[in-house]
Amino acid sequence: MIINERTVEKEVERTEGESLKEKLFNNKKTVWEDISEDEKKEAFKFSDEYMFYLNQAKTEKEIVSFSKEILLKNDFKDISEVTELKPGDRVFGVNRNRSLYIAVIGNENLENGLNIVGAHADSPRIDLKQNPLYEEGELGLLKTHYYGGIKKYQWTTIPLSMHGIIVKTNGERVTISIGEKEDEPVFYITDLPPHLSKGGQDDRKLIEGIAGEELNLIAGSIPFDDKQISERVKLNILKILNDKYGIKEVDFTSSEIEFVPAFKARSVGFDESLVGGYGQDDKVCCYTALRAILEVKNPQKTAICILTDKEEIGFVGVTGMESHSFERFILELLDKTNENKPGMIEKVFSNSKAISADVDAGFDPTFSGFFDIKNCSKLGHGVCICKYGGVRGKSGSSESPAEFVAEVRRIFDENGVSYTSGELGRVDRAGGGTIAVTFANRGMEVLDCGIAVVSMHSPYELTSKVDIYNAFKAYRGFMK
Ligand code: MN
Ligand code: MN
Repeated sequence: MIINERTVEKEVERTEGESLKEKLFNNKKTVWEDISEDEKKEAFKFSDEYMFYLNQAKTEKEIVSFSKEILLKNDFKDISEVTELKPGDRVFGVNRNRSLYIAVIGNENLENGLNIVGAHADSPRIDLKQNPLYEEGELGLLKTHYYGGIKKYQWTTIPLSMHGIIVKTNGERVTISIGEKEDEPVFYITDLPPHLSKGGQDDRKLIEGIAGEELNLIAGSIPFDDKQISERVKLNILKILNDKYGIKEVDFTSSEIEFVPAFKARSVGFDESLVGGYGQDDKVCCYTALRAILEVKNPQKTAICILTDKEEIGFVGVTGMESHSFERFILELLDKTNENKPGMIEKVFSNSKAISADVDAGFDPTFSGFFDIKNCSKLGHGVCICKYGGVRGKSGSSESPAEFVAEVRRIFDENGVSYTSGELGRVDRAGGGTIAVTFANRGMEVLDCGIAVVSMHSPYELTSKVDIYNAFKAYRGFMK
């Protein structure tokens, strides 16, 4: 009661200008400011669960298989095992173990359109080349080709874990994960000590500090016990691999081996308000979108959640968002709801609405000059709306129509979602694209809406727990 009286008192004291300012200004402020104790608790609990997810799944294939487990525990069925679909049904389709399409069938026909939230499960990393293993200086080494946009110097001298598959010509698929458990070895990319880099490496431009062909992984150092032969360290490594996995050197030709930071996701800061972790671009949107669709029951329009692959290299490939594999999934929904007829899928798409759930570059006060402070997403300001991306005059962006942005804002207001708006860095200095363009190409309204990440594409990225929680509320509100 006393608190209320005080509030009233304060209202009275306000000048006209103060009140008007409060009413008219877009007062961007941190969500932590007015958060209730309950909501804060919820946000922290949600982020604990998110960090567990991050630690279980570090690659797109692991995200797909772990997310599939979660879906099965929440009454979702594999669409290949379902012959007929009716409103309220919950299904998913897996595309070659690398991307995942999830649906909750709505009360209205698919013809009226879908509400889609699409995130990507792939993250920048270090991939092995197809003939990686060699020996030099009595060390066993692996040649790599990095994946996605990385600052290469950030990936040296940190523990890296190995994840991936090697497929033999008989079709046998060997799954490998080394370096996540405490008792497993890790891998390592070297760098010069400062004592030696003077007058050489130190004079390179920062971005060239480590060259692509210098991203070589240390893989062993014990020679095979036979002094008669050459390349004994390499042989010893191949023998270990052959004993353990039954593979030969040539089998690397049909492998996908990814090296990612072996660090665990952790809370960051004295107040534990932030999350540090590898691959938050865009696993943070994968997790929040996945949790959101778990809570979507009997929606009006069919809700779709996508965890796609190959975003970081341009949405391409059979498991990327440009692939017609997504159409195949929607056609299966149309078949199984008995709605399919020629041209129907075009109609479905043109009536559909999508959120491209991807991260945005969060404001970093140490490098404030690289941002437009009035138009960037700050940690703790809620989920971030990004009307357009692109580079130099919005080039390559699928700028969202203002009408659709307004519609999404209304949905957020109705669902108590805190949001901000931003774009990626300063005009003519920065830019980027997302799978939004692939939705727009299909004739859908689409808006980029995700989470601010500081140090994006680095081995350890930073997000805010309150933004994560608001993204979850945003995606749930959009799909339900
Ligand atoms: Mn991304
Ligand atoms: Mn990215």
